Amino acid sequence: MLAKIIVRGVVQGVGFRPFVYRIAKSCELRGYVLNLGHGGVEIEVEGDKRRIDEFIFLLREKKPPMAKIETIEIRYEKGKNYKDFEIKKSREKDKSHLSSSLPPDIAICEDCISDIERDERRKNYFFTTCTNCGPRFTITRKLPYDRKNTTMNEFEMCKDCKKEYENPADRRYHAQTNACKKCGPKIFFKGKGIFKEGEKAIWEACKMLLDGRIVAIKGLGGYHLSCIAEENAVLRLRKLLGRNEKPFALMVKDEKMAREICHLKKEEEKILKSYARPILLLEKKKELPYVAPKLHNYGVMLPYTGLHYLIFKKINKPLIMTSANLPGKPIIKDDNEILKIGADFILYYNRKIYQRSDDSIIKLIGKKAVFIRRSRGYVPLPINLNFKSTNIMALGAEENVTACFLKDKHAFLTQHIGNLNHYETFEFLKEAIEHFSKILKFVPDAIACDMHPNFITTRYAEEMAKDLPVFRIQHHHAHVAKAMAENGIEEATGIAIDGFGYGEDKNAWGGEIIYSTIEEYERVGHLRYYPMPGGDLATKYPLRMLCGILGKEIEDFVYERRKFFPYGEREIDLVFRQMKNSIKTSSCGRVLDAISALLDICHLMSYEGEPAMKLESIARNGKDVLKIEPVIKNGVIETKEIFLNILENMKKRKEDLAYSAEQYIADSLATLAIEKANEKGTKNIVLAGGCAYNEHILTEIEKKVKKEGYKFFINSMLPCGDGGISFGQAVIANKILKN
Ligand code: ZN
Ligand code: ZN
Ligand code: FE
Repeated sequence: MLAKIIVRGVVQGVGFRPFVYRIAKSCELRGYVLNLGHGGVEIEVEGDKRRIDEFIFLLREKKPPMAKIETIEIRYEKGKNYKDFEIKKSREKDKSHLSSSLPPDIAICEDCISDIERDERRKNYFFTTCTNCGPRFTITRKLPYDRKNTTMNEFEMCKDCKKEYENPADRRYHAQTNACKKCGPKIFFKGKGIFKEGEKAIWEACKMLLDGRIVAIKGLGGYHLSCIAEENAVLRLRKLLGRNEKPFALMVKDEKMAREICHLKKEEEKILKSYARPILLLEKKKELPYVAPKLHNYGVMLPYTGLHYLIFKKINKPLIMTSANLPGKPIIKDDNEILKIGADFILYYNRKIYQRSDDSIIKLIGKKAVFIRRSRGYVPLPINLNFKSTNIMALGAEENVTACFLKDKHAFLTQHIGNLNHYETFEFLKEAIEHFSKILKFVPDAIACDMHPNFITTRYAEEMAKDLPVFRIQHHHAHVAKAMAENGIEEATGIAIDGFGYGEDKNAWGGEIIYSTIEEYERVGHLRYYPMPGGDLATKYPLRMLCGILGKEIEDFVYERRKFFPYGEREIDLVFRQMKNSIKTSSCGRVLDAISALLDICHLMSYEGEPAMKLESIARNGKDVLKIEPVIKNGVIETKEIFLNILENMKKRKEDLAYSAEQYIADSLATLAIEKANEKGTKNIVLAGGCAYNEHILTEIEKKVKKEGYKFFINSMLPCGDGGISFGQAVIANKILKN
């Protein structure tokens, strides 16, 4: 008997063929396996029916860690009298179309960790990888994914490595990153007159780290700045980077060490240990000074390269591992660039990084994992669509930019690019677009961007488009569509809450109730408009926003806090005079900021979301003492209620006031969304935008929506914030283009 099997999904470049070879052999089957052009794998196995069933079972259950099987097609045919099982070469023509099969960078596997411990050729070798692990996306220049097309092309395999590479029974069969101490990349340590090479370089770096020094460490997608998470070292790092409060990510040796500093639920442990090894936000158990000031959680990740494992052989403490970049600029990937940052020492290796990629960030809310940033470990894996799309390229907004490519039934998003207010970040976006266009063989039919006339992405979209249509998509419509399309729904009432998006009326929207059918939308409700005195300054200094909302009522309070205005009283006078001519905003983020200011939690936004994040951290220990009933007039939510109620109850616990304020926002948004969903006759309610990361607000909205019998949706494969908005823009553009 013979079975012809087609497997689709991420099955190339992940050690799938040697795996098939091994299980076929172990089941005593004959036949072949080969890579297909569209990214799938074709298998024929001949032999005993029972053994074929066993083979199919193993294929599903024991697949290599990085492989993702989407479908398995099986057809039984007459035997062909194969003599043996072999791995056949994929036809040259087939190699041209591997777009969906370039895997992301994947954490070192258990077998490679044990090689580092024991294997003679790889003992303490930092770049130990196999077909199941190692860098992929960050080293690949072009497809097909062959060594010559990666930054490993500079290293010629030695005799022993070659033997592994050519042996189908070996874990390193066709492992494009295969290397050993003898032939692979070399590691160095330098700084302050010290220079070390190989293993010694790593041990020296550990010594310096333990000594409280700052070491720049070359990772997969760029450099990290590292130091032990102890007061003096962390303060030195803060000084070096000019970052007073922004939380630093931590790397811990293992989950045991994670448990010493954080609370770790079962589901969280699973994400932490997954092959993507993201940074996971975990609730603090122990306060490590200056690591994440005034927040209730740490960003924590586990080691994901051989080098990280080697470092934790000597260091039994949590390490800060923060992306090395100059303020506002992309993560540094080149060895000469890193010198500019002024770390004490550098631990680096002589293999180039081709594509930058920051660490991904995830937060678990209830049982939902939400992406705050989707990058290393996930990019360039596609998001599957439930429709066939035209080729659309979308450029995102201005903050946390990613670009998106819709093609057939897939959406590909670039790695995290960052905020486009620096020339270098814009260059990075252009490079990433070029790279994705190349690996996807992508020719756009249309380009989508934000509606904001002055965003760099808007202007770049126009410039790139030439004769192609350009679709300028309203920001919150894109947010809602992004959550709808990921969940495969065609119409919904959306709650889009974030910091800022350009509105149809030129005001700064950000607390919107939107009814959407993907291609069309209607703004059916929003938070009350208030002036933003000084525009962007009202974002940076939340007290300004408080003035905007309460006006003269808050005069005394604000004058008492004059030290938080760079120009003191003069500036406050100006703020009150500016009010009438200010741009207006319905932003939920700005309301949260102003509450944070009223409760004296935060008076300066030194990093994105700071006042609202600190408010959330305080509110966690509170309860609803104000119990404010939602006040909604003609689809407009009165947010001033919160402030008036707090002012009357200033003597109450800050935690409770913070909690009550968040509760009002959640209640009123849910109430209005349900009312509008009812009017429109839809059962779907989606939540999107950066404020959705607030655990309390998200949970309360979900509870209320479900209690009233509506279905609740949110993004789980893409960020809720602007990091996923290019996807929303793209799906809207596709729909408009088609109709
Ligand atoms: Zn491995
Ligand atoms: Zn070698
Ligand atoms: Fe947004």
